[in-house]
Amino acid sequence: MSENAADVEEERESLVVAIIDLNPSPQMIKDGECIVPKCLDALIAFSCSHVMLNPFNKLAIIGCHTRQSAFLYPLPSSSESEETRPSDGQYELFANIKNAVHTNVKKLVLQNNEEEIYTESLVAGAMTMALCYIHRLRKQQIIEKKIQARILIVSASGDSASQYMNFMNVFFTSQKEGVLVDACVIEKDSGLLQQGCDITGGMYLKIQNVSALLQYLLWIFLPNVETRKKMILPTRVHVDYRAACFCHRNLIEIGYVCSVCLSIFCTFSPICSTCQTAFKLGPLPTIIAKKRKRQAPLRQ
Ligand SMILES: [Zn+2]
Ligand SMILES: [Zn+2]
Repeated sequence: MSENAADVEEERESLVVAIIDLNPSPQMIKDGECIVPKCLDALIAFSCSHVMLNPFNKLAIIGCHTRQSAFLYPLPSSSESEETRPSDGQYELFANIKNAVHTNVKKLVLQNNEEEIYTESLVAGAMTMALCYIHRLRKQQIIEKKIQARILIVSASGDSASQYMNFMNVFFTSQKEGVLVDACVIEKDSGLLQQGCDITGGMYLKIQNVSALLQYLLWIFLPNVETRKKMILPTRVHVDYRAACFCHRNLIEIGYVCSVCLSIFCTFSPICSTCQTAFKLGPLPTIIAKKRKRQAPLRQ
């Protein structure tokens, strides 16, 4: 009986919200060629595999750019573009996913193709959209058990410390909602995404070769939580748990923390810039240390 119950658990439908970073950053160009189309192809193939695994599986894809994030699939029913019938006998749902992603990526990139260049992608914003989508879908469900949901991020942008607070809020909300955060980063490590995956119990993987992206996605990110427990997956990397200071948005290991609002600062300031608390402090630790050194010979 218990085995049957476990099987039923495994066969539960799940929702994957995939987020793809479309930022035209220098990391996205390899040997004079943009890697975004390759990433998109891999993601579309992954999405089709996910939908194919279980007829009740649900899927959403969000594209994030430097100024805007938008749903690539599915779209609100009012703005649904006419569904093109696949000519080569392809399964209609797969053709719909592919067409929707291609047309909407084009729209998103053209909308953001202006002279001003913001180097950071709005990954945290896209994750917020994903969480709202998951929440809405769960609210609409009639059955008691909530649909299993996870967020998969494919990005090559590396760290974006200026969005530190947004990231942290999203990670802790995901943890509370029981949403796994998976991240597949290309070439550049992201400490913040590492933290997110660790907090929510998801997988974090850095890959070197974009051509192998699909293989990694299918191997590591396609199985659901129950199946992952039975698989031998890459061991967890050492998590970079540095926090970004509130003053300069630099990632720091040791810093000053306001005892009232827990804001982090890389340099000492007598007044907290977040909550305006004035600290009544004695001399700084470095000065005390120096004084002790000076006093030491006298005592002997
Ligand atoms: Zn600072
Ligand atoms: Zn404070």
